[in-house]
Amino acid sequence: AHLDVIEAAEPSINAFLQVSADIAREQADAVDAKRASGEQLAPLAGVPIAIKDMIVTQGIETTAASKILQGWIPPYDATVITKLKNAGMPLLGKTNLDEFAQGSSTEHSAYGNTNNPWDTSRVPGGSGGGSAAAVGAFEAPLALGTDTGGSIRQPGAFTGTVGVKPTYGGVSRFGAIAMASSLDQIGPVTRTVLDSALLQETIGGHDPKDSTSIPSPAPAMVAAAQQGANRDLKGMKVGLIKELSGDGFDAGVSKRFDEAVEELKAMGAEVVEVSLPHLKYALGAYYIIMPSEVSSNLARYDGMRYGLRVMPPEGVPATAANMMAYTREAGFGDEVKRRIILGTYALSAGYYDAWYGSAQKVRTLIINDFNKAFEKVDVLVSPTAPSTAFKFGEKSDDPIAMYLGDIATIPANLAGVPAISVPAGLSDDGMPVGFQFIAPQQHDEVLYKPAAALE
Ligand code: GLN
Repeated sequence: AHLDVIEAAEPSINAFLQVSADIAREQADAVDAKRASGEQLAPLAGVPIAIKDMIVTQGIETTAASKILQGWIPPYDATVITKLKNAGMPLLGKTNLDEFAQGSSTEHSAYGNTNNPWDTSRVPGGSGGGSAAAVGAFEAPLALGTDTGGSIRQPGAFTGTVGVKPTYGGVSRFGAIAMASSLDQIGPVTRTVLDSALLQETIGGHDPKDSTSIPSPAPAMVAAAQQGANRDLKGMKVGLIKELSGDGFDAGVSKRFDEAVEELKAMGAEVVEVSLPHLKYALGAYYIIMPSEVSSNLARYDGMRYGLRVMPPEGVPATAANMMAYTREAGFGDEVKRRIILGTYALSAGYYDAWYGSAQKVRTLIINDFNKAFEKVDVLVSPTAPSTAFKFGEKSDDPIAMYLGDIATIPANLAGVPAISVPAGLSDDGMPVGFQFIAPQQHDEVLYKPAAALE
């Protein structure tokens, strides 16, 4: 049924880079056979899923929406893909994104735009616009994304879907194409909070193949989401993040956000305002740390090992260095090049302490702010993004305007804490608004109760 929806919707949505119809059918048949033989099945067995093309899939082309990886067929599966396969979940295909997950609109894909299913003249958010649009357009019931600075949550907000960034280390990054390794995390994109809980329990838990993976089992998120359905939040203390409201947030977004806060109060939650004073430096710190790690991680695309290779033209010596230069010039888009250049500069001798070193100190101050806030409240809240989905082209020529839209999502990545975006109604422009909950590290279950209560 989902393959049929994909066929009907793709001409107007373009969420998928690859549809793996044969593989999906084969996997679905295998689950049917197991069911017929009376075998015990996992909770999501038979439920198909779309995968952001930032996650490697054995035998299915994986490009990170970059020309430099065009034609690369990975010889192995990411740990999350192995877990989905073990759970009997058919893979529908690979979804579009900003090249190497760098962007907030999916306009930086080398393979064309993905359209927002609510209004096809608007972006679906980014970088995981493909996964969010696929779930929002009912092409897939579930999807996976990666979130380095909001790439699961902001597209969730823009498409009226649920998106979760787990605790750093809560889900294995083995086989997630690295963008900024200290910030990257794989997580669920779904239509309901309970679906996200089921999916996060399926993909979460310790993985010896990822040295940053937390050596303990995934928290009990399904039970928490089920509790939330009772819509009783008595005893829960909710902190409104002072620095993530007011100026810079669209009136329509703030209005829906305030109404949702009233709903939380009506369900018995105690709501207080909390200040995280160093959040005003979060965007600056992120846009130093992230490109620094990007410049290092993307050094591996050298024309030798994966995908594209461009030889120098006649008259230019065919040396390895020249081949690398021509390959990277042709293979990377402008935004990726911008970040590699910025990051290389920030890490260079003589500038390292001033830029990267300072940004890391700011990061520590932000972590301390979160720790202090969580001494006072159980969960923090903010709008997921300062605006609703914008029109194509509105910000694509202005990187700073695009970066400013990440203000509410990047703090959770810098601090390694879990966060969820849930739909909170429509703004005055008829577009969905996202409501974000943030919980302490390794307490992802804390997100799920109020999120399920609010949806
Ligand atoms: N929009 C952010 C950026 O451009 C987030 C990216 C992400 O989470 N992958 O860096």
